[in-house]
Amino acid sequence: MTTVGDVVEVLEAAYPPALAESWDAVGLVCGDPAERVDRILICVDPVESTVDEALESGAQLVIAHHPLLLRGVHGVPASTPKGGLVHRLIRAGAGLYCAHTNADSANPGVSDALAEAIGLTVTGPLDAREDGRTGIGRVCELPEPEPFTTFVQRVADALPATAAGVRGAGDPDRLIRTVAVSGGAGDSYLARVTALGVDAYVTADLRHHPASEHLASGRAPALVDVAHWASEWPWCGQAAAILREAFGGNVDITVSTRRTDPWTVVGQRRIPG
Ligand SMILES: [Zn+2]
Repeated sequence: MTTVGDVVEVLEAAYPPALAESWDAVGLVCGDPAERVDRILICVDPVESTVDEALESGAQLVIAHHPLLLRGVHGVPASTPKGGLVHRLIRAGAGLYCAHTNADSANPGVSDALAEAIGLTVTGPLDAREDGRTGIGRVCELPEPEPFTTFVQRVADALPATAAGVRGAGDPDRLIRTVAVSGGAGDSYLARVTALGVDAYVTADLRHHPASEHLASGRAPALVDVAHWASEWPWCGQAAAILREAFGGNVDITVSTRRTDPWTVVGQRRIPG
């Protein structure tokens, strides 16, 4: 019999809580470590649709990348969206476990999964911790240089589809060989990727001013902005592989197929001519 506690132990070996940022909230949100687990769902966002998916499938444990309760709470009344999710999970006998910035920094972690999905070879962390092998983001190489337009399409083909798709900022013909990637919001590493001199930077949630100021600084890396959810979704497969290795035939491990990117509609004015 596999328990919630057994699963937590394997997850914490792969994604040590000590690697989480100080502001983060990782670990078991609800659930009893002594209870039995036969079915697990792994997702990016612990939200209504993924909890539906988990409970419909009879999962006793949801493993999510994003924390449900990041800031301090004084209660979880069912009349609030997050409290409602906690109630639904507990009533169904299901637990919730979150591996957030510890999964970002671990090796392999979120950005290794993103790099692998895109077909990149990782050479090291983007923002390395003292050990030199863990840390946020990854620096990577393409097997062969390719034009920026081809690279942007490569990223789009590698990730799950989203309404807004993938946007590139930079010279369409620029040859791309070295790439930095950072799953999730990666604004804060713009100066670092320029200092590293990579050809392109793949991340999410880039904003107008930081992006345009970055591009104005000489040979700054071209930017590829993807949906936050899509950039972290490949991690679900990585975590699933780790758990399958540990629990093999005893536990049924599924990656969520619900698209929890909040952007669902896109408008595009036709350019005349
Ligand atoms: Zn994220």
